[in-house]
Amino acid sequence: MPSSLKTVLSATLALLATVGLSLAALRRGAAESANPPPAKSSPPFAVRELYAVGHFGNSYEVMGEYEMRRYLAEAKRWGFNRYADWFDMEDCSDPFAEKGLVLLSHAMWERKKQNFRSAQALGLSCDLVITPNHVYVDQCRPALLAKKGPKIFGQLICPSQPEARAMILKNYENLFADLARAGVRLRAINSCPYDFGGCACEKCRPWILTFAKLMREIHAIAERYHFGIENHMIGWWWTPEEHRLLADWADREAPGWIKSMSLHIPYSATTVAGVRLPKGCQRWAFVHIGYADQANPRDIYGHFGPVAAPLRLPETVEHLAASGVTGVMAYSEGMFDDVNKALLAGLGSGQFRTGDEVLRAYATRYFGADRQQAAPWAQWLTAWGRPFDADPEQMAQQLARLKQPGASGWRERQWELKLELFRLNKRIMAETGWTPARLDAVDHFWQVQEEIYRGLWGLTLLRHVFARCYTPAPWYADWAKHASTHAKSLGKNQ
Ligand SMILES: [Zn+2]
Repeated sequence: MPSSLKTVLSATLALLATVGLSLAALRRGAAESANPPPAKSSPPFAVRELYAVGHFGNSYEVMGEYEMRRYLAEAKRWGFNRYADWFDMEDCSDPFAEKGLVLLSHAMWERKKQNFRSAQALGLSCDLVITPNHVYVDQCRPALLAKKGPKIFGQLICPSQPEARAMILKNYENLFADLARAGVRLRAINSCPYDFGGCACEKCRPWILTFAKLMREIHAIAERYHFGIENHMIGWWWTPEEHRLLADWADREAPGWIKSMSLHIPYSATTVAGVRLPKGCQRWAFVHIGYADQANPRDIYGHFGPVAAPLRLPETVEHLAASGVTGVMAYSEGMFDDVNKALLAGLGSGQFRTGDEVLRAYATRYFGADRQQAAPWAQWLTAWGRPFDADPEQMAQQLARLKQPGASGWRERQWELKLELFRLNKRIMAETGWTPARLDAVDHFWQVQEEIYRGLWGLTLLRHVFARCYTPAPWYADWAKHASTHAKSLGKNQ
């Protein structure tokens, strides 16, 4: 190298060092300018579907019409362009059999129609998720019941029995017709074989093909009411062997029928498996946005307040896009995953390049953060990706510096209360034995949780994954045992 050039180079390096830049940063900058943010016409994923299933007493089951409309408008703003719901029939009787009363099933179905109409009015395409042999409670006659087994539970009947099959087809005819009457135009059905679904009897084996053939009949009925409706599938809990069987069958018997497969991503994983798909079937992903970055210990379904996965979701988007995934279906169980909605849709739509950018925009929009505060807010939210590692006292001090004076909205308040839950959790975990102080901390924990559930999210009768017995709190089982023993001793003393 000529000495004059060396001198220039070393002078340049010295200058860069003084302004705090490194060659790595320069290279990064060059790469960024060479790869500008994707244009809106070519986002990482063409489809960003919000599967906001209303059931189990969660937010989507209880939100009012206008509340849901406002909420969906925000989801669209972050980048979602499709909406899906599922009629979870657990505990519901057939609403089309009873015309004179308004029962739980009527109220739930009405709400779903309302939510579909709201989504449609916002310009979101509407899809109905179907788990075909899951039926109303009054249809679960003993002679028709499905054979239960691993992954197979709930109100299920066997579609290999002609009477049960006819009942299933009629159920969907009723739903499709009623949606059409209500002005809802379905773009697709998302068929899913498990959770709740399946039958382990001899006649239904292999289940995946019984399911596919049943869905073909259901899809034919759907076409009568929703012209051009497509059939998509959800790969939740499928084995690679089931994917192979389905793909072989579809290529032979129903080419082009399955438009996409939303593949299952196991806990902790950030991409989908390389399973075989039918020809022409697009590779989509079913992304669980209801938990934090870590799968273990698990912060999930709002038991510890809101959740954030600021590292897992950006990584998931990157890995999925790199593996040829063209659509994502966000599996959402309520408002508690609000930050994760922004992350998945914001990145998946190409509106933002990094998780940090999304979080800064989130803090600006909802917490009133200015340009300077947005970055520390984003850092604060990022720490919640690993909530069991965070120091609640340090987090509280940082929050005190970030908070704007005046009343905060529910989005901000839920994080303050999460902090309180983790303060209490730490106190409970620090002790052994059920001392009055430790019992008092648990009592306080439930009170704060109730404040979130009732005061912020307006939840009512929580079922299934939201039940207290499914809390991931590590001390719960021991506490429940203690509480039960204590209750029994009270009974004896009376
Ligand atoms: Zn069966």
